[in-house]
Amino acid sequence: MRTDKKNVQVIEFIAVGSELLSSSFLETNSLFLAEKLEQIGLNLTFKTVVSDRWAELQQVIRTARERSQIIFLSGGLGPTEDDRTKEVLARVLRRRLIFKPELLERIKKRFASRGLVMPASNKKQAYLVEGAETLENPNGTAPGQWLETGGKIFVLLPGPPPEFKPMVENLVLPRLENLSQKKVIKAFFKITGVGESWVEDRLKEIYQLLPPYLELTILASPGDIQVILSLKIESPNQEAKRVEELEKIKAEISRLLGDKIYAFEPKTLEQVVAEKLIKLKKTIATAESCSGGFLAHRLTNIPGSSNYFKLGLVTYSNEAKIKLLGVPKTLIDLKGAVSAEVARAMASGLLKRAKVDLAVAITGIAGPGGGSQKKPVGLVYLALASSNEIKVEKCHFLGTREQIKFQATQKALDMVRLKLLKLEHNSGAIKRKAS
Ligand code: ATP
Repeated sequence: MRTDKKNVQVIEFIAVGSELLSSSFLETNSLFLAEKLEQIGLNLTFKTVVSDRWAELQQVIRTARERSQIIFLSGGLGPTEDDRTKEVLARVLRRRLIFKPELLERIKKRFASRGLVMPASNKKQAYLVEGAETLENPNGTAPGQWLETGGKIFVLLPGPPPEFKPMVENLVLPRLENLSQKKVIKAFFKITGVGESWVEDRLKEIYQLLPPYLELTILASPGDIQVILSLKIESPNQEAKRVEELEKIKAEISRLLGDKIYAFEPKTLEQVVAEKLIKLKKTIATAESCSGGFLAHRLTNIPGSSNYFKLGLVTYSNEAKIKLLGVPKTLIDLKGAVSAEVARAMASGLLKRAKVDLAVAITGIAGPGGGSQKKPVGLVYLALASSNEIKVEKCHFLGTREQIKFQATQKALDMVRLKLLKLEHNSGAIKRKAS
């Protein structure tokens, strides 16, 4: 009996490997699989991590066969003695393991392409459970397997995530899509510069407009908020109308949150800033105190950062601020290193020295010590200098030392983003005037 759409109800994932039960390895394949399944309107019902010992593995597979329609098994397809997923599955299903000469050839070729001779133990990977189809693994020697039997589907995939993920995406999902007419379309809004309650408040009226097939989720962490709209489509004839509805709500959310939205896809703020810097051909330099180079790190995490990032200084001490940025000693004595005036002087000194379009400075108290009543932990001054202005912002962040450092860099990146938006807007206006 072939498994069809109507009986795709219970989907189960089994991660095989004793190491995944230790404190050293994190089981992540199920998270990836769950995310991909959600995109086609399917959800996991059970997930299990099991040791690679025969008895336990057998027990888990037996239970899965009883209660689930689609059973994913990841790991244990390697060449060693303790890789026994397909052996145990074959025993549970009372099937043989069938040798596939073409698979052996493929594995041999893979070794030969690296100038190696295939070890004898790898021959084990050329066996499939009787009746199973091969799922090609372009990134490893262990092939996957797809087996339909007794109204159930067993999907065997190699454990290493660089092998597991592309196989799920390219081979498994298209097959499952044919079984499921359901689909989920997501819309993302990445937001910074405001708190979760501000976003909640703004979106209050949206909740009343939401039809039952449209779900709104707010995921908040200090300095970064993500709003996700998930549209459920149960059958193809619903799609056009529901997508239209989604577009309407998206437009409404965009209007309500305005320029607090920095991206409409799951991107980081540094990615967005980097793209804008490259597009507008602008260069940047950083002078950091309490964030200890974290801003420079985030700006240089993006491939191609040499196009825009010119200099990053960690001016932690007062001497460094004086010597490297030209901040007057008297100013530090008078106002303190954590002050609007010093942030401004750091940014303007950096702008001159680094000869860049934008210079960013951060000075603050990351804690947990070093705060006072007047200047508490979390107080951070940020300055952004460009040829025509210096903007200074005072912030008071809450959280651990690391969270304060992150929020300071997030705020700095956002100041840069807003400045670049303004430049983009102005250059657009000039172009429109000229034409
Ligand atoms: P191989 O031929 O590479 O051995 P395999 O299918 O036998 O393939 P395993 O030996 O089970 O793979 O796993 C190899 C490694 O892959 C594990 O040690 C672990 O680092 C990683 N891995 C396996 N399963 C998972 C999982 N579910 N989540 C995250 N990492 C995993």
